[in-house]
Amino acid sequence: MQILQSAPALQAQTEAWRQQGLRIGLVPTMGALHEGHLQLVRTAAAENDVVVASIFVNPTQFNNAEDFRLYPRLPEADAELLGPAGCTALFMPGVEQMYPTPAKLRFDFGALEHVMEGAFRPGHFNGVATVVSKLFHLARPHRAYFGQKDLQQVTIVRQMVADLSFDLEVVAFPTVREADGLAMSSRNRRLTPADRTRAPRLYQALELAAEQLRAGQSAAAARQAAIDYLAQEPAIQLEYLEVADAQTLQPAPTQPVAEQSLAICLAASLGDVRLIDNVVV
Ligand code: AMP
Repeated sequence: MQILQSAPALQAQTEAWRQQGLRIGLVPTMGALHEGHLQLVRTAAAENDVVVASIFVNPTQFNNAEDFRLYPRLPEADAELLGPAGCTALFMPGVEQMYPTPAKLRFDFGALEHVMEGAFRPGHFNGVATVVSKLFHLARPHRAYFGQKDLQQVTIVRQMVADLSFDLEVVAFPTVREADGLAMSSRNRRLTPADRTRAPRLYQALELAAEQLRAGQSAAAARQAAIDYLAQEPAIQLEYLEVADAQTLQPAPTQPVAEQSLAICLAASLGDVRLIDNVVV
């Protein structure tokens, strides 16, 4: 596996691959890799000729300086995991490579970003859209892989691809979970042992709401049941829990609509670790 640290080196490599007619898969990450990331890479390797994984803790998508400072960074361990998973080139740029000058362009995704992560992390999706569009221009992938764990992110990336006519396919990959249901996340490493035992309650709450929706309960009732379940554990600080249309991400109607797919999405903190998760019904 090659390691590329400059934007021109990545552009030159992906241009050469394109000239050879090779299909390029891109897996953007912020590193501290876990099995969820590696499954994205393995899938990309199975569906393309070459795979670029990027590791960049993107400062412009953090609205909390402490969260950015504490975000786990494990470049050597990550590099060792990526080769065996089928990664051809690891792009690990410094901030100066991605932001030679501070970005002035601002993205506005309208209603898509006025809810959930967009509402609670102002500027987050502007930073995501900025860095993802830069990576698309530099790596020129045929397919780009994103996790459904970050449902609002993949929805916004799809919108950006459509709005800006990026010539690539966005692939959304199902959430990879620990055996106890906790969604894998780089941030899980920062949980205390006690909070790690409490964290699966987040997924349990989502499943509880999902069962209620499947049984024909209203979105409001399912949402309240999940909120009540989480409230039994005082160490979990719930930021939001919403039942939303899985495509538009807007709040679900109060009464069930046949054939509508719904996403139950939450963000919560355990100590100073903020986690998100969702289940689509
Ligand atoms: P991150 O490094 O957290 O920015 O994640 C990089 C990519 O991996 C994003 O597209 C995430 O949605 C995806 N991802 C993160 N955690 C998981 C997971 N547990 N299952 C599937 N994909 C994930």
